[in-house]
Amino acid sequence: MSKKYVYAFAEGDGHNKPLLGGKGANLCEMTQIGLNVPPGFVITTEACLEFLDQKALPMGLLEEIGEHIRNLEQQTGKQFGGADNPLLVSVRSGSAMSMPGMMDTILNLGLNQETLRGLIQQTGNQRFGYDAYRRFIQLFGKIALGVDDHLFDHEFDEVKRAAGVKADIGLSAEHLQDISARFLRVVHDATGKPFPENVFEQLEIAVKAVFNSWMGKRAIDYRREFHITPAMANGTAVNVVTMVFGNMGNDSATGVGFTRNPGTGENEMYGEYLVNAQGEDVVAGIRTPKPVAEMAKEMPELYRQLVELRNKLEAHYQEVQDYEYTIEKGVLYCLQTRNGKMNATGMVRSSVEMFGEGLITKEQALLRVNPSHLEQLLHPRLNPSHKEKPLATGLPASPGAASGKCVFDADQAELLGRGGEKVILVREETKPEDIHGFFASQGILTSRGGKTSHAAVVARGMGKACVAGAEGIQVDSRSRLARVGELTLREGDIITIDGSNGNVYLGEIPTIPPKFSEELKTLLGWADEAARLKVFANGDTPDMAAVAMEYGAMGIGLCRTERMFNASERLPVVVEMILARNTEERQASLDKLLPMQRQDFIDMFKICAPRPVTVRLLDPPMHEFLPSEQQLLDEIEGLKEYRLAVKGRAAALAALNALQHTHAVNTDLSEDLVNSVISKKELMLRKVRELHEVNPMLGHRGVRLGITYPEIYEMQIRGILEAAAECVKDGVEVSPEIMVPQVITAQELKWVKAGVDKVRAEIEQRYGLSLKFKFGSMVETVRACCRAGDLAGIAEFFSFGTNDLTQAAFSFSREDAENKFLPLYTDSGILQDNPFEVLDVKGVGVLMQMTVELGRRTNPDLKVGICGEQGGHPTSIRYCHEFGLNYVSCSPHRVPIARLAAAHAKLLTEQ
Ligand code: ADP
Ligand code: MG
Ligand code: MG
Repeated sequence: MSKKYVYAFAEGDGHNKPLLGGKGANLCEMTQIGLNVPPGFVITTEACLEFLDQKALPMGLLEEIGEHIRNLEQQTGKQFGGADNPLLVSVRSGSAMSMPGMMDTILNLGLNQETLRGLIQQTGNQRFGYDAYRRFIQLFGKIALGVDDHLFDHEFDEVKRAAGVKADIGLSAEHLQDISARFLRVVHDATGKPFPENVFEQLEIAVKAVFNSWMGKRAIDYRREFHITPAMANGTAVNVVTMVFGNMGNDSATGVGFTRNPGTGENEMYGEYLVNAQGEDVVAGIRTPKPVAEMAKEMPELYRQLVELRNKLEAHYQEVQDYEYTIEKGVLYCLQTRNGKMNATGMVRSSVEMFGEGLITKEQALLRVNPSHLEQLLHPRLNPSHKEKPLATGLPASPGAASGKCVFDADQAELLGRGGEKVILVREETKPEDIHGFFASQGILTSRGGKTSHAAVVARGMGKACVAGAEGIQVDSRSRLARVGELTLREGDIITIDGSNGNVYLGEIPTIPPKFSEELKTLLGWADEAARLKVFANGDTPDMAAVAMEYGAMGIGLCRTERMFNASERLPVVVEMILARNTEERQASLDKLLPMQRQDFIDMFKICAPRPVTVRLLDPPMHEFLPSEQQLLDEIEGLKEYRLAVKGRAAALAALNALQHTHAVNTDLSEDLVNSVISKKELMLRKVRELHEVNPMLGHRGVRLGITYPEIYEMQIRGILEAAAECVKDGVEVSPEIMVPQVITAQELKWVKAGVDKVRAEIEQRYGLSLKFKFGSMVETVRACCRAGDLAGIAEFFSFGTNDLTQAAFSFSREDAENKFLPLYTDSGILQDNPFEVLDVKGVGVLMQMTVELGRRTNPDLKVGICGEQGGHPTSIRYCHEFGLNYVSCSPHRVPIARLAAAHAKLLTEQ
């Protein structure tokens, strides 16, 4: 018994995408739920892999295909290669993952001189026959025989020119016949062989060509770019589908649609169609298609059927579908469906609405939306108050606004984009081979094609802005320019496109950050209900805290007090404090800093009330607040030169005045002042040299600083607790948390805690109230992980500082690693990911799990979170959930992503 390689649509398992490919599985599924799919069969990805491996079709495959062809003949009453009623098929690729336009499809296979005659006789439509024929020769020639496509285009254009017509619609049967004959010659000349007449030979060549397209450059590039691994999709299936014809006259058409608007998510008929056209015409942007709404007037009965098809698809798949159909002489056929690629706006809105319509559950609604995609919603929009007039307007094909230099081909886009330039790729239309240009561009502008054109689909998938079919623009990519009326746009000219309304502007227009939609708020509200992890934000200033709250943060997980020191009016005081020669001098500077810090904390606490604000005591080494040694040396040298010059100038002026009895004004700084600045700088230089460390990351920082200079931590603790007391006095409920960095032993915590208790007693007495706050520890040294049981005896919470913990676990210094060897490590697969971006679950993760376990053994109520950069990364969030953490804290703009990721973590691990 040999292996089964071929499945009829009526028998294939609609869930087995790895075997049948996405397209094939769905064709089977649709057939089996009773949708009108033309009869056909799928050749499995297994056959493809064997073919690619053995360089020959698997044994028995051709016989199996032959049997299925016989079945098709029976079902349709047509004959493959028959002259009377010929069966024509399409040969279509389709792997487990959708890769739009990446592999090849051949239409109208089965045509030769004899069947062509039959087709014409049978339909009584000569024009149709030759139209189908010339399309087949071109597609087959290009894809299966490797003939250069331009050779066909050249002949085609020549006939069009001679006939004086613009579009293919204007060509007569004779023209198309002429074109077919020319195409046959092109193939003969290019391959040295006549075009294959035997239809089974055609089929065999076509199947092999589709299999080979899996290893084509385009497809390989695409898989690499989108990280499609063999585990996700391995090999392509081949679908052989009975042809139906959208080009049989004005009661025939072809179209593509989305079950909802993929840009906005709105529940409406969405798509485009072309009357009297076949297959790829819509997608290729050859003619600009009509919006589907027009079908309601033009073909009302078919429109009704289309609405019905759409509803059935959504109800069955419980997911927005992207579908293709053809109408042949008033009969609607569905040719393809797949889950629709929508942008984040569309996903969010449709999720919320599909739940509202009872199509899906809340859990499904949440799981549909990929957390990382929400990043798109943080894309800029054009500032609505701008007054620019658009240069041209096209179709709003993928929302978002983008500015950049015009470039007219993908290679140039890649060149400039890689060099860090912002570019807009401007094309007449795009093709799959332009894909690398998309990656490098901020946005895409085309002058032809609709909202379902290649450019639009790809841009939406990438979340890039796209304006398509801006017909007012004439693109001349050869001369690297475009004309808009009188104006000429040249490569390098800056334009702005608005993919939300289709406008194109000259120059750069300012953008503003987007607002949260109601739907997103609703969805994230559901996420918060579903999640166990809480999401906090890292925020160092009242402004950042405000943004974090707007994005739905449930608290501040990390407020870095040193960032508060960096404000321009504060830095001099901080420097003064560092330069202090003794404790009294230092205290005097700290007394000046205290009211500033206290006010910051009051503002932060009030903005976040009643949510917790975790304040980390001073962490970085002190020399970070001072200029570098080199800078000071340069300054001192400059000052000394200046002093000399001033002396010289004063002498010169004196001489001049003596001679002329005048009093020229000398505006130079006084020598005394210059001298005092020099000595201050020299003092700083001495301090910088004194504070110099071989290894600052491992040096005098964090709690070590707090222990050597207790007055610094005391000032900060006082600032926090006085701020809390002030808030309580104002009737605001606040939850401050004091966090100690770089801890290695419980002794350090005890030391700091003693200071906290002292300050607390004093303030509580002074204000006559009792303070509620938490005291906790960062866990960012390996030793802290080992001693977690002890630490938890004093700390009420832990927060993993995974940046430092990762450095410690790997013995990598981050900057050196990322600049020097980490890229090679990840590229060559020695490490899977950059551990500073994605939590290293196998190393750092083990330390974290141990810490949680030891800590909770001492204190079962111990609250544990993470405040490293990885806290905003969905994969890391999933680990944090699994380790039993209570919260993650990330940068404010990643909070929405983290909230959804936290819900996913719960739903995906605990179902
Ligand atoms: P892609 O993966 O690039 O979308 P498809 O295999 O879907 O390629 O085919 C390309 C085009 O040809 C589509 O627009 C499809 O509707 C059309 N097509 C494919 N098979 C048939 C068929 N049997 N009859 C009519 N049109 C077809
Ligand atoms: Mg294709
Ligand atoms: Mg398709």
